[in-house]
Amino acid sequence: MKREDMIRAVRGRHEPWDIVVIGGGATGLGTAVDAGGRGYDVALFEGADFANGTSSRSTKLVHGGVRYLQQGNVSLVMEALKERGLLRQNAPHLVSDLAFIVPSFEWWESPFYGIGLKVYDMLAGRYGFGRSKVLSREQVIEEIPSIRTDGLRGGTRYFDGQFDDARLAMNLATTAFKQGATVVNHAPVVGLMKDDSGQLVGVRVRDKEGGGEFEVLSRVVINATGPFVDGVRRMDRADAEPVIAPSQGVHLVLDRGFIPGDSAIMVPHTDDGRVMFAIPWHDVAVVGTTDTPIDEVSLEPRALEEEIVFILETANRYLARPAGRSDVKSVFAGIRPLVKAGAGDDTAALSREHTILIDPDSGLMTVAGGKWTTYRRMAEDVVDQAILLGDLEQRECVTKDLPIHGHHMNAERFGRLSYYGADAPRIEQLVAGDPSLGLLVHPDLPLTRGEVLWFCRSEMARTVDDVLARRSRCLLFDARAAVGAAPEVARIMKDELGRDDAWAAAQVEAFESIAEGYVLGGG
Ligand SMILES: Cc1cc2nc3c(=O)[nH]c(=O)nc-3n(C[C@H](O)[C@H](O)[C@H](O)COP(=O)(O)OP(=O)(O)OC[C@H]3O[C@@H](n4cnc5c(N)ncnc54)[C@H](O)[C@@H]3O)c2cc1C
Repeated sequence: MKREDMIRAVRGRHEPWDIVVIGGGATGLGTAVDAGGRGYDVALFEGADFANGTSSRSTKLVHGGVRYLQQGNVSLVMEALKERGLLRQNAPHLVSDLAFIVPSFEWWESPFYGIGLKVYDMLAGRYGFGRSKVLSREQVIEEIPSIRTDGLRGGTRYFDGQFDDARLAMNLATTAFKQGATVVNHAPVVGLMKDDSGQLVGVRVRDKEGGGEFEVLSRVVINATGPFVDGVRRMDRADAEPVIAPSQGVHLVLDRGFIPGDSAIMVPHTDDGRVMFAIPWHDVAVVGTTDTPIDEVSLEPRALEEEIVFILETANRYLARPAGRSDVKSVFAGIRPLVKAGAGDDTAALSREHTILIDPDSGLMTVAGGKWTTYRRMAEDVVDQAILLGDLEQRECVTKDLPIHGHHMNAERFGRLSYYGADAPRIEQLVAGDPSLGLLVHPDLPLTRGEVLWFCRSEMARTVDDVLARRSRCLLFDARAAVGAAPEVARIMKDELGRDDAWAAAQVEAFESIAEGYVLGGG
């Protein structure tokens, strides 16, 4: 998978594609996999990097959504639980079961949550991940050794799924490519092309690396830009009403010592009426999230001070050893692409969680909402609609049983490289050929020189941020260490990609400015 080949393929093609997808997050990549799998000619353009937006900033859960169950939204929960099961089946190297403990400090909590979570088990049916159970105080302490024991009565354990969001996005990009799609990163769509009747006939794309703009013809254009869909809708018509009510969610990354076991803590009702999680993930603990309405959407949203304080205060009610600012290794924020109530009035809204809009004049399709867990289902709905809109030959969706690139049933045997799944032996081989490639890029980060090369050669990594934030998750593991690793990563990439010293220096500078938003001051 080489970016140069992708650019050549899209620049060199003069007949229309069946489908062009704008945006390379969960929604856009899922759509490219689905459309490619059905045999359509599909090209995807991502303005920054794959999963650069919300799709690398989630809570990392593949879940039915206990919160939706609290709201009584049973059909939504059932759909998500089914998708959870399919995702574990199709990407077992990236999706695993995780036990969640709901601690009880009041007498009524264990019976109350115990019953609710039994319903959650039942709704999963044959896609279940394990049975929920009411636990004694001692059992809770055994599962969560770091929990505050003062006033603890017991708890309830249930099972859900966990994954690595950006890694899944990379594997979906490769899957799309293997299904015949052309996927290009660092190539924003900057304009839409219309015929004399105002009907969309293609997009204008900027090549951020090679420079210049080019036109791409297509029968159907799908706007899958998440929180940014309104920007693309305004390219279509300047007076388009916004459909997104953006809200940001923040997570803090703490040392794994704060959640040392294999189970997560789930708090079903925080002071602002949300659920909060503290989750063991790789070698760190991820705690969050918040829900703060925002006015402007940006690719690098910053956590607000009150969000950080709220997360620390809430977490510390449940932790025996309170976490302080100096314990925070990284802080990251993502924007929910929530669709405003009523925005789907003139649309083919196919599920209550995601919305598909089709502009009656231009035919621009916009898809927004949903969650990572249901990306496959969203993509299926979108492509079904695109077939009707573009008058494409009817073909059935194939993604229910389509293995995602890297699929491996026993990836644990690759140890730290397990999340590469079937690619792990190829990375091992690369390092075996040159032992210096086994050296770490930074003493505090689990990333070798060989992996950096692999990302450039096989996963279209083009910038230091691509490597440190999404191909590897170093920026989330330890933001300060990631800054320390940037010069070494830039040096390796410079040689591999045929760049010069000025490029490497600019890359380090650009990464430092991004990473600034992930380092928590005042420790
Ligand atoms: C805090 C938080 C926690 C979450 N936790 C979970 C969870 O645990 N489990 C779960 O299932 N879901 C979770 N979600 C939801 C899930 O992350 C999102 O629904 C999903 O990632 C949205 O994907 P997307 O592709 O629609 O948007 P994005 O991932 O934002 O992708 C849109 C892409 O479009 C690109 N783009 C923008 N403009 C252009 C242009 N002009 N040309 C080309 N490309 C462009 C952007 O660069 C971006 O990469 C969470 C969301 C948030 C905010």
